[in-house]
Amino acid sequence: MHRRALFQTSATLGLGALAGCASPGAAQPAVKTPFGVSATHVPIMGSDMLFPVRRIYCIGRNYRAHAIEMGSNPDREPPFFFRKPTDAVQNVAPGGVADHPYPALTKYYHYEVELVAALHKAGRNIPMVTALDHVYAYALGLDMTRRDLQRAMADEKKPWEIGKSFDKSAPIGPLHLASQTGAFASGAIWLKVNGGVKQSADLGQMIWSLAEQIAKLSEAFELMPGDIIYSGTPENVGPVVRGDVIECHIDRLPNLSVKIV
Ligand code: MN
Repeated sequence: MHRRALFQTSATLGLGALAGCASPGAAQPAVKTPFGVSATHVPIMGSDMLFPVRRIYCIGRNYRAHAIEMGSNPDREPPFFFRKPTDAVQNVAPGGVADHPYPALTKYYHYEVELVAALHKAGRNIPMVTALDHVYAYALGLDMTRRDLQRAMADEKKPWEIGKSFDKSAPIGPLHLASQTGAFASGAIWLKVNGGVKQSADLGQMIWSLAEQIAKLSEAFELMPGDIIYSGTPENVGPVVRGDVIECHIDRLPNLSVKIV
């Protein structure tokens, strides 16, 4: 397969024939459907295979300073989870700058740089000591947020979906196998806009470590192969406008860049 094809949508990858086989965790016999529905995949570095995405979990307020800037008290309110739809994924190839569309309805569009873990093992009530065995690979991701809409819904005690779970709200770089990278317990995580540093922290500052996130998530949901976890963003989230270029970094992963268009 030509390299570029990996970063096109699955619809153009000829995967439409698989559209009827989306039952959780198990391949099913082909079924007839009146139309195809695209599946979501993320490229795996050094492999011609694509990672099939089942669910996207996101952890909120997992760095103390970010929790405080969002108006909560991390000593009293633990992190929590929300989800994005799988088709929120925007695959971004390293070494280039992908166009990222400024979304509809918002006037306050925010970046959040995050470490992403991709799972390949199922589990319920996973103990922390074995939690990282469930991680197949890691990636650099952006949890793009329509902050004005998120806040408006939060003020009304309504769900966040319109602020968090919209099209292309989850840019992600290619996956890097955990067997090759090892764990990401610490290391620099930063984000620049137009070359200026906006977010800069260390992965070791997470309130819930990745192992703890997996353990806690698995108490609420049965985790399955194909699930991915956005592990939260550090402080100093902020807005971008059309024309801005975001560059993000996590030590030992290639940088990810998008231009807001
Ligand atoms: Mn986030």
